[in-house]
Amino acid sequence: MVAGGGPAGCGAAVAAARLGARVLLVEASGCLGGMGTSALVSAWSHMSDGRASVIGGLMLELVEAMYERGHIAPSYDRSFWTTRHNRGLGYDPEGYKRLLDEWCEGAGVEVRLFTKVIDVDADAAEGHVAGVVVHGVDGYAFVAAEAFVDATGDAVLAEACGAPSLRAGRDTERIMPPTLCAVQTGIDYEVFDRGLQQAAVERAIRDGFFSQDDRHVPGLFRSGRDHAIMNAGHVFGMDALDGKSLSAGMRRGRALAAEYTDFFRRYVPGCADITLVATGSLMGVRESRRVVGEYELCYDDYRERRHFHDQIAIYCKQVDIHVYDDSPEEYERYLRSFEERDVLAPGESYGIPYGVLVPLGWSNLWVAGRCASSDVMVNGAIRDQPACVMMGQAAGTAAVQALGSGERADALDTRRLVETLRAHGAHLPQGELHGSMTRRTTGVARPG
Ligand SMILES: Cc1cc2nc3c(=O)[nH]c(=O)nc-3n(C[C@H](O)[C@H](O)[C@H](O)COP(=O)(O)OP(=O)(O)OC[C@H]3O[C@@H](n4cnc5c(N)ncnc54)[C@H](O)[C@@H]3O)c2cc1C
Repeated sequence: MVAGGGPAGCGAAVAAARLGARVLLVEASGCLGGMGTSALVSAWSHMSDGRASVIGGLMLELVEAMYERGHIAPSYDRSFWTTRHNRGLGYDPEGYKRLLDEWCEGAGVEVRLFTKVIDVDADAAEGHVAGVVVHGVDGYAFVAAEAFVDATGDAVLAEACGAPSLRAGRDTERIMPPTLCAVQTGIDYEVFDRGLQQAAVERAIRDGFFSQDDRHVPGLFRSGRDHAIMNAGHVFGMDALDGKSLSAGMRRGRALAAEYTDFFRRYVPGCADITLVATGSLMGVRESRRVVGEYELCYDDYRERRHFHDQIAIYCKQVDIHVYDDSPEEYERYLRSFEERDVLAPGESYGIPYGVLVPLGWSNLWVAGRCASSDVMVNGAIRDQPACVMMGQAAGTAAVQALGSGERADALDTRRLVETLRAHGAHLPQGELHGSMTRRTTGVARPG
């Protein structure tokens, strides 16, 4: 049973189904893809360390299929996931939706759209989940299963189970602001130059144009021949886990999308005819809840570019902590982060070990994607979609291994897991393998 059909959930469901499991994938919205489709964040961050590709397995399959189908934006070629350093690419969200439909159907995954996990039957002392309560167009249902993957982004299932978690704004000082992204059309790409955008932002701030003086504007990213996604307008102070705050945030996000459309039209060459087509139906949430896992991938690991014997993926995106407010000091702090060791040099990458997928002390529950176990800084690196797909593939593969062998999630033979992932295309270059997982050494009491 996989909760959430974003990049992590689709990766988990397809991996498990291809290994022979009977899989139900429950998705709250009307399509698969999560932030990549419903939130219109239609871009994949870094997939190459500048020398070679760091992705493999299902993620490589996805990007190749999107490319073959013409759903990768013009100007991006294979070098963007094989050899280019520090580059992402934009894709067409509609093409991605259909590919994910076919992908899940082809693997035999049973997909339930408009269906939400709302409760669980779980024994927190034993670390065991018996089933989940879902609500969809048919009403309520109890779904019993043997293994569960939480890929909801917000760790909804794990939280309902009573698994330990960290909530942004409660367990952290501040919440990284979300952005309601949008699709734009009418841009003249012969004229538009992203390099001119920041000077335009500064000019508009001097003119008193904006309702907030936010200097950090990621901006427009081409996602197809005639369309681009707009990632602009931080919704400061919003809490994605608070219904009232989220609702107000969506209203504010839509107002900001209109405001930034006007900004591009007035201040940025090539955007005179820009037209706002649609805003996302989901808020673009960067930070909400992360589980406390058997391992927490932390900033020191990242800075050391640490690799692990039990890593289930390697990745190369830099830490990306957006401004927390619209003060000039915050923008300075943001800019400085790119001058320090946060940016990876060509050939550098870091490992994501298995333990980030396992809530501390749980036997048949995994998490994957944005809600996996890391500190805030590293979350700002591995929350990106390629890493989420790879974590999902690993969680789905681990669940099937556990079903077959009777192993617990928190005591899984990681040597076997890595070997199975490699056999299914994962790029895992570590040398010697061990059966036991890398665990956290300090800090948190084990449940039960
Ligand atoms: C503004 C913004 C810009 C970004 N830019 C990039 C970028 O350029 N490149 C990149 O690679 N990444 C980018 N990211 C990061 C990336 O898009 C997300 O972190 C990633 O999609 C997380 O994947 P996920 O599968 O963990 O969760 P999500 O994509 O959030 O998917 C979770 C899914 O679970 C569903 N769900 C939630 N609750 C329930 C429930 N109770 N029951 C059933 N289903 C549920 C949701 O509807 C959703 O479909 C960006 C993120 C944001 C917010």
